[in-house]
Amino acid sequence: MSTEPNPSVRTRFFDTKIEFLKGVGPQKAALLNQELSIFTYGDLIQHYPFRHEDRTVFHQIKGLNETLAAAQIKGRLREWTTIGEGSKKRLVAYFSDGTGLLELVWFQNITWFEKTLKVDAEYIVYGKPAFFGGRWSITHPEVDLVTHENERGGYFQPIYPLTEKLRRKFVDSKAIGRMIRILLDISRPYIRETLPANLVQKYRLISKADALSHFHLPQSQQAFHQAQRRLKFEELFYNQFRLIKNKLLHKTEYPGLVFLHTNLVKEFYDHHLPFTLTGAQIRVLQEIREDLKTGKQMNRLLQGDVGSGKTIVAFITMLFALDNDAQACLMAPTEILADQHYQGLKKFADLLGVNIGKLTGSTKKKDREIIHKQLLDGSMQIIVGTHALIEDIVQFKNLGLCIIDEQHRFGVAQRAKLWAKNAKINPHMLVMTATPIPRTLAMTLYGDLDISAINELPAGRKPIKTVHRYDAHRLSVFGFLKEEIAKGRQIYMVYPLIEESEKMDLKDLMDGYESVSRAFPDVPLSILHGKMKSQDKDYEMGRFVRGETKIMVATTVIEVGVNVPNASVMIIENAERFGLSQLHQLRGRVGRGAEQSYCILITDYKISKDTKLRIETMCRTNDGFEIAEVDLQLRGPGDISGTQQSGLVDLLVANLAQDGEILKAARASAEEILTEDPDLHQPVNEPIRIHLQNLRKEETNWGRIS
Ligand code: ADP
Ligand code: MG
Repeated sequence: MSTEPNPSVRTRFFDTKIEFLKGVGPQKAALLNQELSIFTYGDLIQHYPFRHEDRTVFHQIKGLNETLAAAQIKGRLREWTTIGEGSKKRLVAYFSDGTGLLELVWFQNITWFEKTLKVDAEYIVYGKPAFFGGRWSITHPEVDLVTHENERGGYFQPIYPLTEKLRRKFVDSKAIGRMIRILLDISRPYIRETLPANLVQKYRLISKADALSHFHLPQSQQAFHQAQRRLKFEELFYNQFRLIKNKLLHKTEYPGLVFLHTNLVKEFYDHHLPFTLTGAQIRVLQEIREDLKTGKQMNRLLQGDVGSGKTIVAFITMLFALDNDAQACLMAPTEILADQHYQGLKKFADLLGVNIGKLTGSTKKKDREIIHKQLLDGSMQIIVGTHALIEDIVQFKNLGLCIIDEQHRFGVAQRAKLWAKNAKINPHMLVMTATPIPRTLAMTLYGDLDISAINELPAGRKPIKTVHRYDAHRLSVFGFLKEEIAKGRQIYMVYPLIEESEKMDLKDLMDGYESVSRAFPDVPLSILHGKMKSQDKDYEMGRFVRGETKIMVATTVIEVGVNVPNASVMIIENAERFGLSQLHQLRGRVGRGAEQSYCILITDYKISKDTKLRIETMCRTNDGFEIAEVDLQLRGPGDISGTQQSGLVDLLVANLAQDGEILKAARASAEEILTEDPDLHQPVNEPIRIHLQNLRKEETNWGRIS
C-alpha cells in the first residue's frame, strides 16, 4: 500500500537538480541554469507560460477569415521559391490542405528554411492569416512536421519566456512544454496542497496539483482559467499573509512611546491654526492620535494628493511628540523638497517658539556641529532633512517620531536605520506620499502599514479646468494666454524631454520658445531645461517666482519642488508623450492660489486609443486616486510611478490591475486566519505553516543564486 511521502521527502523531490529530469542532461541543464535561472524541479515547475496557443482545432483554408488572431492548418507543402532582392528578399512557400491554397512568407532566416523545408511533406502551420492580393497568406508562421503527438490537435501549446540563446539551441516553448509534461507526471505525488481545505472549499478553488498541471498544459480554456484563479489566489494570499503578520507583529511585539499630553497641540489649535482643517485632515489626525496612545509603535502611511494639506498634519503629529518630551524628524528625498518642508514647518514652529533645524548634504560643517549637539542634548526639537539624517553621527536625546516623505524613494533598510536612532523604544513612523496609489497596489506595497488618506482638498480651492486642444488651434490658445497675462497671471509651458530623443526634444523646446516670443513680443519670458548650468536655472526660476517673467517655457524639470501660487495656466505640449501620473503631477503646479486655474493639453490630430483615454481622464477629473486607478489599468502595475516595483511586489501569476477582487478575498482570508489562529496551531492551518517554512527556504536559496 502506498502512503503519502512525508513533507521533507516532498521538499527534497523539488530540490532535485534539473539535469536529472529525463531528456535534460548536463548540457541543457547548464543552459537552463544560465538563461532562465532554472536549477531544480521546483524552479522548472514554477517557470510559468505567459500565454497559450490554441492548438485544439484545425482550420480549413477555405474557411479562413481575417478576424482570426491565429489559425492552425494541416496540409502539404507544394513548393517554395525566393522572390525579390536585398531587404525585400523573401521566401514564399505554397501550402495546401485540399480546400485552398495558402502562401507562407519568410523575410528572416531564409537560408535556414531553404535548407529545412521539405517539399511534399505534411506540415502543421500556425499564425495570423491575412488576405492580400486575392490570396491567403501567413507571414513567419510556425511550421512543424506532422507527428504522432500533434496530428490530432486537441491541445493548448504553452508559450514560455525564453532567451535568444535558448532558441538558437532549440530549447523553445515546445521543448520546455515537453520537460514540464514529464515533470508533472512524476511529481504528482509530491505536490503539496498549500491552502487550508476550508479556504479551498469556500472559494471553490481547484487543488494545487491540478492547478499546476492545467496552468501549464490545460485541456480547455475553462480548465486554464480555474488553474489561473487558484494560483493567483494562493500567491496573493501568501503575499498578504506575510504583510499582515508583520503588521500584527509590530502591534504586539514592538512597544511604542505613549503620547498623552497635548499642551502645544492645544495651543496651536486654539491660537495659531491658520485655517479650518478639512474633514479629511481631522479624520487622519484622529487616526494618528489613536496610534500614539496605544503603547505600540505606529506604522502609518499618509496618502494625499499634492495640495491636500499634508504639511499641517505632519506638524501637528510632531507636536504630539514634543508635548511628551520626545523629538521629531522629517526626511525628504531631495534637498529641494527638504527645503520646502523646512520653510513650511518653520512658519508654524516659530509661532510656538519651537526649535527647528535643517540638515542636508550641503549644510556647512560648523552648522552641522551645532545641530548634532542640539539634537543630542534635546534642545533642538524638530529636524528636517535628507539622507544626511540617517548618518550614524546624527544622534538624538529622545527621538519619538519619524516622518518620511515620498516613501517609495527610500528603502526599507533606510526606514530601519531611522528606527534605530532610539535605542530604547522605536520611534513612531509616519510615511507620507503625494503619489496616490490605487487600493490594490497600496495593499501589496504597503500592506504592512496602516493607511490613512486625505481625499479632500481644502475648501474654496477651485478645481483646475482641464481642456484638450490640437496643435492647429494654437492661435486661440495664445489668445487665451494674452487675457490671463493681462489679468496679471503667470503661465507654464511644458515640453517633454527624454534622453533617447534629446536633440529633437530640445529643438522642440527652442522652437516653442521662439514662437512664444514672436507671439508675445512685450512679455518677459523664462526658459528652463536640464542642460542649463544650475546657476542659470536658479536665476531663471528666481525671475519667474518673483513674477518678473510671465511665461516659463520648460521641460519637466519643474515637476518637483516649484511653488508659484500666481501661476494659473499649465500648458503641456505633446501631451501624448506623458504618462497619466506625470500629467497629473505637472497639473498640480497650478491651482495653488485663489484664482481659477487651467491646464491645456496640446496634442497632434492623430492620437492613439490609450492617449485618448489618458487625455479624457485628465479632462474629467482632478482626483489623483481616480487617475492612479486608470493609470494602473493602462500600464499595469510594473510601471506605476511611485512604486518602481523595488522588488516589493514580486508576483508571478497575479496582476494587480486585474485581480483586485481576488486580492480582497485573499487579504480578508489572511486577516481572519491571523486573528483566529495567529500561531497556526489548528490542524486545518497546517498547510500554511509548512508552506511558509518552504517559502523562507526558497528565499534563502535565491539569496545564494543572486
Ligand atoms: P501637500 O499635501 O501637497 O503637502 P500642503 O500641506 O503644502 O499640501 O498644503 C497646500 C496648501 O494648502 C498650503 O498653502 C497650505 O497652507 C494650504 N492648506 C492646507 N490645509 C488647508 C486647509 N484646511 N484650509 C485651507 N488651506 C489649507
Ligand atoms: Mg507637501
